[in-house]
Amino acid sequence: MTTKIVSKSSRPFALPFVEDGPVYTPGRAFVSNGGSQRWRLASNESPLGTSQKVQDVIKLAAANQHLYPDPDGLALAQAIADKFDLDANRITIAPGSDSIINWLIRGWAGPGDEIVYSAHGFQSYRIRAATSGVISVAASEQGLRADVDALLSKVTERTKLMFVANPNNPTGTYLSPAEVADLRARLRSNIMLVMDEAYFDFVRKDDYASSIQMVEGGGDNVITTRTFSKFYGLAGLRVGWAYVPAPTMAPLGRMRGPFSVTNISLAAAKAALEDDDYATASMAHNEQWVTWLNQEISALGYRVTDSVGNFALMQIPGGTDATIAFVKILDQKGFSVRRTDQNALPDWVRITVGVEKANRAIVEAIKSFGSVFAAEGTK
Ligand SMILES: *Cc1c(COP(=O)(O)O)cnc(C)c1O
Repeated sequence: MTTKIVSKSSRPFALPFVEDGPVYTPGRAFVSNGGSQRWRLASNESPLGTSQKVQDVIKLAAANQHLYPDPDGLALAQAIADKFDLDANRITIAPGSDSIINWLIRGWAGPGDEIVYSAHGFQSYRIRAATSGVISVAASEQGLRADVDALLSKVTERTKLMFVANPNNPTGTYLSPAEVADLRARLRSNIMLVMDEAYFDFVRKDDYASSIQMVEGGGDNVITTRTFSKFYGLAGLRVGWAYVPAPTMAPLGRMRGPFSVTNISLAAAKAALEDDDYATASMAHNEQWVTWLNQEISALGYRVTDSVGNFALMQIPGGTDATIAFVKILDQKGFSVRRTDQNALPDWVRITVGVEKANRAIVEAIKSFGSVFAAEGTK
């Protein structure tokens, strides 16, 4: 691996894979719609808003902003450990679980090394790898579900990490505990298996379980990541965490550095974790409405996945241009949704579960599409 040397350059250049690296595409948040109602269904944010208990804690914490936060976020780590029956000394708190993905790639792989991810997996793995000069290798899926054999077949001498979102974003599909155990058992022991459980809290299925027991079980090559952004409604505060093997704690802490999570975020996340009413509502609302969205959209003749996340994924007949047109028309009607071209699904659209009114409105909008689509064509 050689690094391009630019002599006599006109300005300081970043490393080539940083200068020319790919960019994470966030969901479109605000688009002008002549001032009428807009529904933000593009970023898997909670439709329940910020919990009042969290808001109260944030106000209380406001008076202590002259103080650095606890570098390890121990009070939050302990609250997480208590809730999920874990060892607090193996919990790393981060400003969003996306930061953990980044630290793992930067700390455990270098230019020319490889990570393996599932072809329609979360886009961060690929993008974070690219901006570290790390090669990301996509494993094919079966029916928009990660495939254990395919993932293992992509492992080479240079593989350092494997990333599996379970359930995955944007497909909303998941691997069973038996499949995850099989993957783990057949993965070379010096490859870190990162199980990204950003949507764990939403799932109540008999054939789904957290991978955290595998980390707990003493394996030194499995990490589970979670986030407060989706289920707990704290996307704006940026808090995520990971349960990691004991030997991984110190190096991961070095990647993190001190004071990376603000004391407002730490306090708010602890309050969110202890707010059972919000969690119950978050669970019930999503269960009801993701099921409803999947059924309604599928009844209109579109292909959807069996998503268990807080979003539905639908395929647009007619290919990429039709999909771009579909998103544009929804946008004009006041709905921000997400095309999944960054996940190698250019003719699919992800719709986040919203409040009841938004869910009903977007299904009505999709219903009217037949004619609108025909009239607008695929410009
Ligand atoms: C949203 C998401 C994350 C990142 O969440 P943070 O806000 O950075 O904590 C990680 N993985 C998946 C699969 C996600 O959808």
